[in-house]
Amino acid sequence: MNQYTKRLIWITWLVVFPFSTWLLYLAYPPSIVGYELDLLLFLILMCIMATLPIIVNDTPIFFTDGVSLAVFLAFGLFIEMVLMQLAIFVLILTLRITKESSFRIPMNSLMFMAISVIGALVYYLLGGTHGFINIQSMDTFVPVLGYIVSTFLANSVLFYFTRKVILKSDIRFFSKDLLWEVMTYLLVMPVGVIFYILYSEIGVRSIFYVGLPIVALALILKLYSKSQNVNSYLQKVGEIGHQLSERIQVNEVLTQFLNKITSLFQVDYAYIIDVNHRKEFEVIRYNENGEEKEADAKSFQMAEPFLQHVYNEKNSLLYKRSKEWLPFGKEIFPHEVESVIAAPIIRHQQTVGMVVLASQQKRAYERFQLMIVDILVNYLAVAIENARHYEQTRKNSEHCALTGLYNYRYFETRLQSEFDKDVNLSLILLDIDHFKKVNDTYGHQAGNQILSELATRLLDNVGELGTVARYGGEEYAILLPNMDRDRAYQLAESIRISLYKTPFVIQNHLSESEQELNIQITASIGVAAAPQDADDPISLIRNADRALYTGAKQKGRNKVAIYMK
Ligand code: GH3
Ligand code: MG
Ligand code: MG
Repeated sequence: MNQYTKRLIWITWLVVFPFSTWLLYLAYPPSIVGYELDLLLFLILMCIMATLPIIVNDTPIFFTDGVSLAVFLAFGLFIEMVLMQLAIFVLILTLRITKESSFRIPMNSLMFMAISVIGALVYYLLGGTHGFINIQSMDTFVPVLGYIVSTFLANSVLFYFTRKVILKSDIRFFSKDLLWEVMTYLLVMPVGVIFYILYSEIGVRSIFYVGLPIVALALILKLYSKSQNVNSYLQKVGEIGHQLSERIQVNEVLTQFLNKITSLFQVDYAYIIDVNHRKEFEVIRYNENGEEKEADAKSFQMAEPFLQHVYNEKNSLLYKRSKEWLPFGKEIFPHEVESVIAAPIIRHQQTVGMVVLASQQKRAYERFQLMIVDILVNYLAVAIENARHYEQTRKNSEHCALTGLYNYRYFETRLQSEFDKDVNLSLILLDIDHFKKVNDTYGHQAGNQILSELATRLLDNVGELGTVARYGGEEYAILLPNMDRDRAYQLAESIRISLYKTPFVIQNHLSESEQELNIQITASIGVAAAPQDADDPISLIRNADRALYTGAKQKGRNKVAIYMK
């Protein structure tokens, strides 16, 4: 909703409200002399009920209408309207408005004024009057019924209209909140009539007999709806848990978690913080109004004392307003932040991370939501662990443990997928010369040292140009997409030269002293390329291999050979 519409609502209120109030005062002048205390008690009762709204689908449902009906019947439209306006104001305060949503005050004020007027007009049209009635006369039945039905309809329609048209929210007219509204109306309005009759008979003492029971009922229903609310949260949490556990990458888990938690709660800022093995904190995700943001290191240092506190507490914490977290430093959150939830991510009794949620609203989070966040954070911890485990297993299955290079299995699938891309593709196969002799002379361990040092050198030489894999025992493969055979040959040649020019340092594991030795290693290399030398992956390998054996090994080793047909 834009600023313009908000301003328009305020202006409309400023113009319409005082003027209409004055008109209503003139048209239906109230006579309250002698009833001041009664009215005050009615007002208090209405305000108490306004602080006990039941929230269904974001719609507050409250019991004030019953009392306001009694007030209307006894004192007329003007008094009813004034008391209702005051009660609505109390209701809106309990609903935690921010500066951004303060337009709800004039909007609701106008809406309830309209409802009061519509109800009263219907009542008068049907012949209703005010004052203390004669219960025996049933003339009041039709106008009262008209008042109840018309205020209900006006209420539902106006609410639907404002939410749909002004707030542009996606709601249906016939929904759960309408049902709640019907139920409370069916309960509260007849009680309102009884209240009025009793008030006519015994005066303010009727508040004790009717008013207080309604308050008690409102409280009970509020507790009930709250537990319903917790239930629906728990149900959603269960679903989120399932969805998180299906993610197999840590990154996906974090994204999913943030998406879900920001849609579940009123969250303006969300942070996921990692605690590393040196117990330093690092923001790994930072989200503002549902959008990913770059976490800035400076603002983060300021949050340090706060995070240290959460870390030490090992329990989730709830701050309902900025005053409560301010002792940790004014700068730790963006300046509009009021409410904060901080929950540690605990694994094996260790705090391994933290989740911090912040809202610009005061009292945005309730105690029970802290528990919900705790459960979600537990799911997050398990999902991250699973995803890390999966990533590690996958890495292991694709890599060779000795050299850290990709293994043959990965190389094969990668070769196929590069082939499918239908671009120039060169392949270098490299085999160490007389490697058996190295093993025999210096020991298998020394041989291993060379294999892994060679892997590092190949990675340095190839860089971003392609993929290096350990193809077999002392054989390596280098896959070079978008590279023609001549360039691949040059690369192979530079690798060959750098190998034999720079000796390898090893320990002689077979001698007692285990002294360090420099030994020279050479390699024979074969090069083939697709599409010119091969139409499929297998023949590309076969041809590079053939070049290696016939062109390099057989011609005396320490050579690079290109495949010849
Ligand atoms: P050529 O010049 O003909 O390639 O001679 P070569 O000795 O390198 O060839 P051959 O294929 O006969 O021997 C390869 C040797 O590589 C045999 C094996 O002991 C050694 N080898 C294979 N895998 C490993 C390994 O993981 N570690 C060590 N240390 N040696 C290995
Ligand atoms: Mg070999
Ligand atoms: Mg060899």
